[in-house]
Amino acid sequence: MTFAFRLPGLVAAVPVLLISCFASAAPDASSPEDAAVLPAPHVIRAKQPPHPEFPPCAPVTEASVDLPRPGNPVQAFALPQLDFCAEWNPEFTANGHHCCGKLGGTTRRNRRLQCAVHRRFSNYCAEMTPEQARYTDAAKAGKLGDILELIQRQAWLRGDQSFCSVNNGFLAWGRRLIPSTLNRIIVRREDRCTDFGTDPMIGMLEWLGRQLAKEFPAPAFAGTKLVVGDISAPRGGCLSGRGGRRGHLSHTTGQDVDTAFLIAKEGKESPLGFHRQFDIQPNWWFLKKLFRNPYACVKVVFLDKRIIRKLAKAVGRDPEWLRLARFIRHMPGHKHHFHIRVGDAPGEPGCAQNPELELEDYNDEQDLIDSATTEASGTEQL
Ligand SMILES: [Zn+2]
Repeated sequence: MTFAFRLPGLVAAVPVLLISCFASAAPDASSPEDAAVLPAPHVIRAKQPPHPEFPPCAPVTEASVDLPRPGNPVQAFALPQLDFCAEWNPEFTANGHHCCGKLGGTTRRNRRLQCAVHRRFSNYCAEMTPEQARYTDAAKAGKLGDILELIQRQAWLRGDQSFCSVNNGFLAWGRRLIPSTLNRIIVRREDRCTDFGTDPMIGMLEWLGRQLAKEFPAPAFAGTKLVVGDISAPRGGCLSGRGGRRGHLSHTTGQDVDTAFLIAKEGKESPLGFHRQFDIQPNWWFLKKLFRNPYACVKVVFLDKRIIRKLAKAVGRDPEWLRLARFIRHMPGHKHHFHIRVGDAPGEPGCAQNPELELEDYNDEQDLIDSATTEASGTEQL
């Protein structure tokens, strides 16, 4: 069976992208850890390796895959196969055995809908593959060595990890975020198993956590932590929130993450949850680091407009603000955390050669907000 492969707005650019972004030589997967998490051979494609001075690389993350229909000619990009979707997409049976289907709650009319019955969980740990469970145990026990080196070795050996769209997608070979003393990361709800992301996402968070440790090395600042909320379930898909309703509208592909505002005060421990204290200095430092991380281009950061205004007032003259402000967007419900969306490779802010095209979609997402969400405040959350 064949599929049409659509890349909205990017169809003409795809051949170029395939050449420029995936043409790098794949390193050899020889270590036992590599073998434990590498994909099946039929889906391996070499991708762009990380590099400190990364070149801009347009994203191919929001591709969608549909069954061919009359009048919809099958195109050359016939990925993924149906058996791949059946293996990875946790919504596959619920959406009529399509690779990409609509999950509950994605339009104004049906926004109160719930996740599919078989996925209304309080935690998603049972959806871990045996490899993901082994990886979790080994990484927590420190048996995998340096996680960033591991990601650099493995990430670009895989094919795409995010499929369909950020609101209606799934995640293949999701990698778990593992807190350590090195990265100063705290996963807010580890018991929910919603801390899985793409390799670029996990590489970015791991790197940011280490930058935090470098920036605040003094023992008095040892309590300054990067508190991470939901990313995605082990295979992505719908995340259930309060009362069985969708907890987020995005967070289905391992490319969206919520993080708490940083608190960097001598002798003070970061709260373990989200909070409304937004101190300019550490959080502006964080945003600048975020947009420059060498693992994942940042498409957009959602924040409440009052916080954006506060930030603009304080740092508006910083040339970096002029460069980054267009990618920091208002979204209701983001008074107590950053919502960060990344692409699937390193790159410039916006993830596209013409970021305006990328940003057009975000207006539509205003309609997609589900108000049944975080236990921290009960406010709306993406
Ligand atoms: Zn979010």
